[in-house]
Amino acid sequence: MTSVGPPPDRSGSRSLDPHLRRYAARAAGMTASEVRALFAVASRPEVVSLAGGMPNLTALPLDSLSTEIADLVSADGLVALQYGSAHGLPELRDQICEVMALEEVRGHPDDVVVTVGSQMALDMVTRIFCDPGDVVLAEGPSYVGALGTFTAYQTGVVHVAMDEHGLVPEALREAITACEAAGRRVKFLYTIPNFHNPAGVTLSVPRRAEILEICARHGILVVEDNPYGLLGFDGQTYPALRSMDPDNVVYLGSFSKTFAAGLRVGWTLAPHAVREKLMLAAESATLCPPTLNQMIVSRYLATHDWRGQIKSFQQAYRERRDAMIAALEQHLPDGCSWTVPDGGFFVWLTVPGGVDTKAMLPRAVTARVAYVSGTGFYADGLGSRQMRLSFCYPTPERITEGVRRLSAVLSDELELAATFGPINQRPGSGPQVPAPDTA
Ligand code: PMP
Repeated sequence: MTSVGPPPDRSGSRSLDPHLRRYAARAAGMTASEVRALFAVASRPEVVSLAGGMPNLTALPLDSLSTEIADLVSADGLVALQYGSAHGLPELRDQICEVMALEEVRGHPDDVVVTVGSQMALDMVTRIFCDPGDVVLAEGPSYVGALGTFTAYQTGVVHVAMDEHGLVPEALREAITACEAAGRRVKFLYTIPNFHNPAGVTLSVPRRAEILEICARHGILVVEDNPYGLLGFDGQTYPALRSMDPDNVVYLGSFSKTFAAGLRVGWTLAPHAVREKLMLAAESATLCPPTLNQMIVSRYLATHDWRGQIKSFQQAYRERRDAMIAALEQHLPDGCSWTVPDGGFFVWLTVPGGVDTKAMLPRAVTARVAYVSGTGFYADGLGSRQMRLSFCYPTPERITEGVRRLSAVLSDELELAATFGPINQRPGSGPQVPAPDTA
């Protein structure tokens, strides 16, 4: 019998994956995100993880929820456990419109399509609008899960700069002009206006109108991703882009951060003409979103004080933000700067020149603290002097301890950089954790 090994790949070497040559071209760009690569190490109990963006569920009323869910199945199980429509349950779509009204969106329930988290909505929007080679404009940095989706559809990402007031309109104009001059077709602007992941900043209200005007003038659709909009630490909200230009904005919403991420219930609110295509895309992906989970969300919104629950979340995240900012101020070495979010989950930290956050990560994990290097949030290799710190999940005490450990690692790193030069130019300084695409 001849031995059956994997066929040699194009380089002639034997790959571990015998299917390598069969993949579609679009699969070549699919690699594990840096966040996922980190997950295994960062989840060890001795490591303080400031890396993942897991919502903090400890404030949820689990007892009453479990009674309601049991009741749902016994009273309505034959509906709850059955297929539904790709559009989503009508009563839930009505309630979603009530939720969106908190940010001044006046949508019709017919134009809402319920999705499996807003991640699925991102996939659908990209699928129906982007051909390979098209350009998506996105803030730099941007949400890693969106970048993964854009790459999967072989779409080019052009980043647009942000400052403490969010996306910079002038940078948007320049990016559009550069794409037009290069003959590149821009399909949409992907933006996270509120409590940005990972940058922690919010788009100012005057800039909202300006950005919408620029996009409309250039025939560019706006995809507004807003999972954190109700998590302002003072209960403050901002008018959604969708409320200001309903005909040119596809809005993506989610119950992951305001209720329960594990239920995987999100939605899109699209211009009426787009809704049909979105529904067809949803149907071919999942047939329909899970009926039981939609009913759980709908029952929760009908019977629980969900606005009060969101207030508890705001308070929990605010305490954690305060702990993180206080610890950064107290412990970080000179030369670091960071954003101070007034909502959401994330702080974006910039370290002094000479430190490479990706190269430093293994040493941080050895010192029992994890973060995500800024490079994961750019499609173009930037971000090595930045990192995302998330404060959503650990307790305030753990956050303080995590920042203390991080500061010690950073100080050592700076001392080494001062003595031997920038970390990534020293011999033997290559990454010691698995590269993201192999983990
Ligand atoms: N958009 C952004 C900006 C996010 O941070 C996330 C989750 N981290 C998502 C979309 C996806 O959320 P979900 O699929 O859970 O609704």
